[in-house]
Amino acid sequence: MTARVTTSSAVVTSRVVLSDHLVRLTLQAPDLVSTGIPDEWLSLTVPGQFQTRYYTIRSLHDHELTLDVVIHESGLVTQWAQTDCVGDEVTISAPKGSYAPPDDAAWVVLVGDLTALPAIARIVEHEQRPVSAYVEAPADTHSYPDLGEVTWLPADPDTSRLAEHVAGLTWPEGAGYFWMAGESAQMRGVRRWSRGRFDHAHMDAMGYWSGARGRQTRRVDPGPIYAKGKALGKTDEEIWADYDEANK
Ligand SMILES: Cc1cc2nc3c(=O)[nH]c(=O)nc-3n(C[C@H](O)[C@H](O)[C@H](O)COP(=O)(O)OP(=O)(O)OC[C@H]3O[C@@H](n4cnc5c(N)ncnc54)[C@H](O)[C@@H]3O)c2cc1C
Repeated sequence: MTARVTTSSAVVTSRVVLSDHLVRLTLQAPDLVSTGIPDEWLSLTVPGQFQTRYYTIRSLHDHELTLDVVIHESGLVTQWAQTDCVGDEVTISAPKGSYAPPDDAAWVVLVGDLTALPAIARIVEHEQRPVSAYVEAPADTHSYPDLGEVTWLPADPDTSRLAEHVAGLTWPEGAGYFWMAGESAQMRGVRRWSRGRFDHAHMDAMGYWSGARGRQTRRVDPGPIYAKGKALGKTDEEIWADYDEANK
């Protein structure tokens, strides 16, 4: 039996600024195999870091992987995506997906913020049932490429209001499937609202990021140590030994 490959390498081949809030990265990912689940995601580790972040597979064709990265105030991946990262080698995990409408679902409602836009775009492409999609995103992202029909919800730069929007939606009749992703506190609000309206099989609400959580602090930032080590021609093992030494 061959062991399942859980991580692999990918190389960034292009970087396109889609808007002030979104950067599209194309990567050559020779060992990545899609699950076929339209909201599938993978973990991404960018150069000089060991912490991972999750990103949706916007598309994967002939080993060419597309990821859309939200540009926000400050964070490991968002900062890296704003650099000239073409040629960078990253580590990615095997993908996983969650989208699973039950057989009796006659319609689909999708709701999300900008981080959910890649998944919503892909689900809209894939879904045969009638879909209503609502996305809370700034106006400069409304020209997102290859997007089916979505309704844009106004985006407040300081706070997400997805839970409020959901409570105000008009819902189709009969059994359907409600998929949602965005800021974690909003997802908790939606789960509270949904009790008695949707059972577990007919709904999936995922927290994609947390507004309450600051960037995890580390005593020593590995980024500069990695950059210095590379500049000196050190191997990754030697660089991580330097990092461990700095952390003592
Ligand atoms: C299954 C799944 C799929 C996802 N798919 C995508 C995707 O396709 N594209 C995408 O861009 N993101 C996606 N995300 C969300 C992404 O993983 C997080 O936003 C992640 O925290 C970004 O990492 P970072 O290194 O830029 O910021 P971090 O270092 O994680 O966070 C730094 C600070 O920024 C804040 N922050 C994090 N994300 C945001 C945000 N979006 N807006 C405002 N503040 C933020 C945090 O609260 C923290 O205070 C997905 C998450 C999950 C779980």
